[in-house]
Amino acid sequence: MSQQQMLKFVSIDRAMPEKRDANVRAHDFHEIYAEYAHEKAQEQAGRCSQCGVPYCQSHCPLHNNIPDWLMLTAEGRLREAYELSQATNTFPEICGRICPQDRLCEGNCVIEQAGHGTVTIGAVEKYITDTAWEEGWVQPIAPAVEREESVGIIGAGPGGLAAADVLRRAGLQVTVYDRYDRAGGLMTYGIPGFKLEKPVVMRRNQQLEAGGVEFVLDCNVGEDISFDAIRGRHDAVLIATGVYKSRELQGPGSGAAGIVRAIDYLTASNRKSFGDEVPEFDSGDLNAEGKRVVVIGGGDTAMDCVRTAIRQGAKSVKCLYRRDRANMPGSQREVANAEEEGVEFVWLSAPRGFAGDPVEGVIVQKMRLGTPDATGRQAPEVIEGSDYTEPADMVIKALGFEPEELPKLWGVDGLEVTRWGTVKAEFTTGRTTLPGVYAVGDIVRGASLVVWAIRDGRDAAAAILEDLAAQPAAVAAE
Ligand SMILES: Cc1cc2nc3c(=O)[nH]c(=O)nc-3n(C[C@H](O)[C@H](O)[C@H](O)COP(=O)(O)OP(=O)(O)OC[C@H]3O[C@@H](n4cnc5c(N)ncnc54)[C@H](O)[C@@H]3O)c2cc1C
Ligand code: SF4
Repeated sequence: MSQQQMLKFVSIDRAMPEKRDANVRAHDFHEIYAEYAHEKAQEQAGRCSQCGVPYCQSHCPLHNNIPDWLMLTAEGRLREAYELSQATNTFPEICGRICPQDRLCEGNCVIEQAGHGTVTIGAVEKYITDTAWEEGWVQPIAPAVEREESVGIIGAGPGGLAAADVLRRAGLQVTVYDRYDRAGGLMTYGIPGFKLEKPVVMRRNQQLEAGGVEFVLDCNVGEDISFDAIRGRHDAVLIATGVYKSRELQGPGSGAAGIVRAIDYLTASNRKSFGDEVPEFDSGDLNAEGKRVVVIGGGDTAMDCVRTAIRQGAKSVKCLYRRDRANMPGSQREVANAEEEGVEFVWLSAPRGFAGDPVEGVIVQKMRLGTPDATGRQAPEVIEGSDYTEPADMVIKALGFEPEELPKLWGVDGLEVTRWGTVKAEFTTGRTTLPGVYAVGDIVRGASLVVWAIRDGRDAAAAILEDLAAQPAAVAAE
């Protein structure tokens, strides 16, 4: 099977469970999916009422021109639909796969609000761009002029890559530094492959490289090279380092073997899917196979962990969350998916401690929702005397992420951070308190979404171009 066919295989398996039939040979999926996607995309696009008040567009962080590309798709004018869609979105096929559309574009579709079910905007966006790749309409960047100014980007996640794309198109010399061995940030090593197939991310990295973006990988800024050295090399620097400091569990036994961080668990699983050597996976430390797994947390990362554990062949998978279903931060769609796959949710439950080392169980205390706090959310309160032990061979901590303290880590004076530790930057330009230094994505917003990182990256790139143009020394070369 080719890479393209494999992508379609994964997509059809997810989108059309009724086609998941042992009698259908793997290579048939390509044809079935191609037919299905084309008909379905056209049918869905044709459902758009062209309402004239495109709430879908205003609720898309990129303000994608959704009604127009839906109309073009319905008319079979796919290349034009693709051109329009990629004009505002650097990675439309990625957003089409992993945006929480129910909270963004699709949740605000007027047809949805009238009770008739949303136009599946994300799926159409994905279809348009996947087709563009297949047809060879997606080409490496070829700037009309080469310019001398250079920009150093720290972090090859969606924020950094979206900025790299815009800057390179304008002819600037762009170098992206990342501490990992592959570009893509959390798109590569955080988000599981069953939500975002890795070849989809890798072909974008290759497209940028082929267009002249230089990648310096395995380069941890602050260790392998100083921030000041990067600043000295480039006319502007963009910080797009994301947030990686995991929130930790407290309580007796929380340091026991078998209690692991979500990011380590998901990274190991993603690395394995690339065929990498992953000793922590092979030893069983980061592999859920045959284990009773308890995941602690109620956000999207927790959902990714439970669904990954199911796929690895865990004996049982339970998700402990201290509030109830209605009050969990993760997407309801993801919860429904996880439940369908066999995950058990244990609502209104929090860990008080852990038994055994290696871990043998989670000591669970039951909670109830009390009076609303300052944010209006009901605060969970412990029900005294309700403790019980939930057996577990592996516990995954998925309590969220916080920013690393960059100024301290990098020894940088003058780079201000907020009281949450995120880098202080203007929201529409990414300008920080240091001249010529910009910041985007999760390191500015706190843990957020790919689509917001793309938006920030594009906005900051526009500001960098504006600021460089305003400098007398900015000379365009042939
Ligand atoms: C498990 C998980 C699942 C998610 N699922 C979704 C989803 O389904 N949909 C969605 O929209 N969002 C999802 N998100 C959120 C989304 O991935 C992030 O909001 C987005 O990737 C942020 O982009 P970024 O460019 O700011 O940072 P990142 O993607 O985190 O990229 C930052 C990059 O900077 C590099 N870096 C950091 N420090 C240094 C340094 N000192 N030197 C060199 N390089 C450095 C890192 O290696 C990394 O490659 C998920 C997040 C997680 C953790
Ligand atoms: S980028 Fe995300 S929010 Fe915007 S149209 Fe696409 S799927 Fe919807």
